[in-house]
Amino acid sequence: MNKDTKFIDYIDRVSKCKRCKLCGLGQHRCPGLGNLNAKVMFIGEAPGKVENPELRGLPFVGNRSSDLLLECVYTNWPNGYDDVYITNTVKCNPPDNRKPEDSEILACKQFLREEINLVNPKVIVCLGRTAANWFGITEPLNRAVYIDYKWEGCLVKVLYHPAYVLRFGFQATLQYLAFFRLMKKRIDEYVG
Ligand code: SF4
Repeated sequence: MNKDTKFIDYIDRVSKCKRCKLCGLGQHRCPGLGNLNAKVMFIGEAPGKVENPELRGLPFVGNRSSDLLLECVYTNWPNGYDDVYITNTVKCNPPDNRKPEDSEILACKQFLREEINLVNPKVIVCLGRTAANWFGITEPLNRAVYIDYKWEGCLVKVLYHPAYVLRFGFQATLQYLAFFRLMKKRIDEYVG
């Protein structure tokens, strides 16, 4: 199977999955999206609530934190989804946007693993604690954001989740954009 065929098969299995209780509780589910040969993969926590039904099923689309992430991505990778791959730790939207439980993260682990194997990125960017924990990163985020982690040959960077940043207003958003630019420089140095 080539990558495209494997990806279609993966999407099909995600759409039918009932491995954890999130399958029937939330609003929608979404597999990842982006370039299957991307050097950089972004991993968030879980699909968020989206008001527009047409935007459901896409990661980081259709709410304020998605807008912030996409602004950061498109500022640094002008081709956006054609340059990077974006996904979440779990693929179904938890009810009321609550955090996914450990059992749900474990049940969904195989899907994220499949995406990483398929895309084979050089750099993984964890957006928030849930994604960082998936890679065994347990330092407080205010320290983790300054550390270069290594995982199976990938550089792993950690950032705050954009939803968290938005709680602190405009200045925090500007700082996030600036931090993103610095991270992009580091990624460019690493991938060459
Ligand atoms: Fe399946 Fe993952 Fe959705 Fe749980 S969150 S039902 S494991 S796709």
